[in-house]
Amino acid sequence: MTKLQFYNSLSQKKEEFKNIKEDNVEIYTCGPTVYDFAHIGNLRAYIFADTLTRILQYNGYKTNWTMNVTDVDDKTIAASKEKFPELEPKEALKRFTQEYENYFLNDLKKLNIRRPDHIPKATETIAEMQELIKSLSKSGYAYEKEGSIYFNIKKYAEKYSYGQLVDLDLSQIKPGVRVSTDEYEKENVNDFVLWKAQKAGEPSWSFEIGGKSFPGRPGWHIECSAMSKKHLGVPFDIHTGGIDLKFPHHEDELAQTSAGCGCAKPVNYWIHNEHLLVDNKKMSKSLGNFYTLFDIEKKKYSPLDFRFLCLGAHYRSKMNFTWESLEAARHGLEHLRNQIRALDSRLDTRLDTECSSAFEHRVSKCGEKFISAINDDLNTPRALAVAQELLKSDLPEEEKMATILDFDKIFGLGLSRHMEITVSEKISLKDEIFLVQMPKDTPEEVKELSERRAKARQEKNWSESDVLREQVRSLGYEIEDFEKGYTLKKR
Ligand SMILES: [Zn+2]
Repeated sequence: MTKLQFYNSLSQKKEEFKNIKEDNVEIYTCGPTVYDFAHIGNLRAYIFADTLTRILQYNGYKTNWTMNVTDVDDKTIAASKEKFPELEPKEALKRFTQEYENYFLNDLKKLNIRRPDHIPKATETIAEMQELIKSLSKSGYAYEKEGSIYFNIKKYAEKYSYGQLVDLDLSQIKPGVRVSTDEYEKENVNDFVLWKAQKAGEPSWSFEIGGKSFPGRPGWHIECSAMSKKHLGVPFDIHTGGIDLKFPHHEDELAQTSAGCGCAKPVNYWIHNEHLLVDNKKMSKSLGNFYTLFDIEKKKYSPLDFRFLCLGAHYRSKMNFTWESLEAARHGLEHLRNQIRALDSRLDTRLDTECSSAFEHRVSKCGEKFISAINDDLNTPRALAVAQELLKSDLPEEEKMATILDFDKIFGLGLSRHMEITVSEKISLKDEIFLVQMPKDTPEEVKELSERRAKARQEKNWSESDVLREQVRSLGYEIEDFEKGYTLKKR
């Protein structure tokens, strides 16, 4: 079997993967800052992290995947104040961020991103952040200035190395030059804030170091250090995130955990995904090219069309999103599904999709090619090409079907969903009998809406019929009409 390897930002090369604990792999992904909807560039990063955990599992590892939720930082505080000016700051923050966290979790579900094992919120990990800051302070890596606590980069660089993930000119370090905002100039190497002094009208937590009181709230970087330490321990195996987080966020995270825990290499593999561009430009609200999953669905695309589009680009290459590329992905995915439906209809016996992953399927020639693609630094475009090769091959059809469903453990495109056992029901509308074919678990609401649509069609009320079809679609089902009946299919 081809050995699993990843491109590690630490060594700037592909490395064979070796985990720390036997069988188990610990992964941390920088999650969303919940002050707005996630944009499609963020979602690309989570599809990549999900694919990574799927590949690890395919290789026989158990995974422990943690993805944090940043629910306290400059942006969430500012936005929650604006939304709920009448509420107490902590309550406003909680109410505001919970709403966007829910949207985010819903996005993950729609994209078939499996739920991480832990989804800690920053506000629930304050005690652990304070512990880490205390440890940094005790060992002299943190200092106080006007009620805030800062990380001392110069002192850190004496023992550890600053600039492990990016090349930095350390002669730039100016002792005493500090930044206290969560976002700042990427080029500058400055002492960054670990704990911010309380400001009027902002949420704050009590904090004592050496008998001195520091009411305030955490800086952004310390949040991830504390949450990864809490759920995965130090050191752990893999840290993922978008390339824009490399510096300063990840470099600072690395510094805090190293110095706070006395561990020079707290993470073995740092894996970063490249940017997503829209029409070859950086996404921004002012350019009007800032898209969310909601925008994609509004244009009648399925979230899985977007997942398919992402799989078609290697995670370390810049991906240029255009509506044309999404349209092509939609066709590509539909074509794949049609091939599988056709294959399914030719099979005499229905395969039990649950036991289709029998290892022997993987030893077929296509199986080997597939593994060498995914194990070579997550080469999903090549893996998709192998899937096409498989479907066109002259292998026995049962084997083809079992293998493609096995491949879908990595793709996560829900390919087996389209062959679920269907049931038929007869309904009578105005003395006419209609046959309805649908998946066994079709909800009553979908059945009822589609029945109303059939009735509207019978009455030649096309506009009503279109509205009802859209309602059925929004519930995740597609209607295909045939003479005196229709089929309901999951989208
Ligand atoms: Zn982070």
